[in-house]
Amino acid sequence: MSNILVTDFDGTITEKDVYSLVIDRHLPTGAPDIWGAYLAGKLTHFEAMARYLEFFPTEPAIMDRLLADTLPDTNLASAVRHLRDGGWEVVIVSAGSSWYIQRILASAGVSVPVYSNPGRIEPGRGLVLELNHGSPFFHARIGIDKSAVVRDALGRYDRVAYAGDGPPDLDPALLVDGNLRFARGWLGAELDRRNLPYHRYRRWSSIAATLLQLNPPQPD
Ligand SMILES: [Mg+2]
Repeated sequence: MSNILVTDFDGTITEKDVYSLVIDRHLPTGAPDIWGAYLAGKLTHFEAMARYLEFFPTEPAIMDRLLADTLPDTNLASAVRHLRDGGWEVVIVSAGSSWYIQRILASAGVSVPVYSNPGRIEPGRGLVLELNHGSPFFHARIGIDKSAVVRDALGRYDRVAYAGDGPPDLDPALLVDGNLRFARGWLGAELDRRNLPYHRYRRWSSIAATLLQLNPPQPD
């Protein structure tokens, strides 16, 4: 039996998005309206993320505090371990950056595949976001095509679950069975509006408990 949970990171494994903490703490007054430019179609989602992350703090203590204040699920490592023991792999898909995701995962003692935008810290330029043109899941406007990751998984695993909270999670979440769909925040409200089934989660680690209680799939 092979199963996989494809999961968003910011606001899903963590309570708070990195970019929203950057806005709250480090965006200078009078900064251009990045989100407005995105909504007006003048910036791609990737370009908007890259602009925000230019304000990411590069001073180590301030950076570490910001990453800790995203509040990653305190039971992340044990939940990933229980999932693996129960036949579930975990893969992260994020329109943010693998630079901070890997750092937060390392702090939690977790190692799972991450499909996201690479980046590097440069003093004076914040977290410089890069497009991963070499990825099989490359998306020009977002950086990472979450739906393509789910479609690939659907072709290779018996069961594919999806967890997320934001607008970029809607299309990939719709590709999986309602019983394997986990949502909160904007995504939960949108699924409610569409009258579509899903599990609402409060903590990411509770998803593991729900998945591990499912019965094995029946042979065709
Ligand atoms: Mg999110």
